Amino acid sequence: MAMPASLEWCDKGTARQHEWTAGGNCLHCGRRYPTAEEAFASGLESLINRFSRENASNTPDFILAQYLLTCLAAWNTATQQRDTWYGRDARPCSVPSNAPVSAVSESKG
Ligand SMILES: [Zn+2]
Repeated sequence: MAMPASLEWCDKGTARQHEWTAGGNCLHCGRRYPTAEEAFASGLESLINRFSRENASNTPDFILAQYLLTCLAAWNTATQQRDTWYGRDARPCSVPSNAPVSAVSESKG
């Protein structure tokens, strides 16, 4: 899934931001409001690009972002398998993925 480099701006090269309707689409370009997963993927891609971390492997930022997301998914599966192996509760925590960082760290304590 290739996401645009920026979800904040309606048209690349202009300073106009998306205006989201109640239906979840941009008033100007019609783009659908991104899910938390899409926003995370796009943010990761932007971060890679901002720090030029794609240069070392000469890989487009969206491919590198997708690779890292796949690594994270594999890690999540592996830790669930590990917890199941040890007889622990392998369910993911209930903190929503779009919760503020402070809420996430508080729940881990
Ligand atoms: Zn728009």
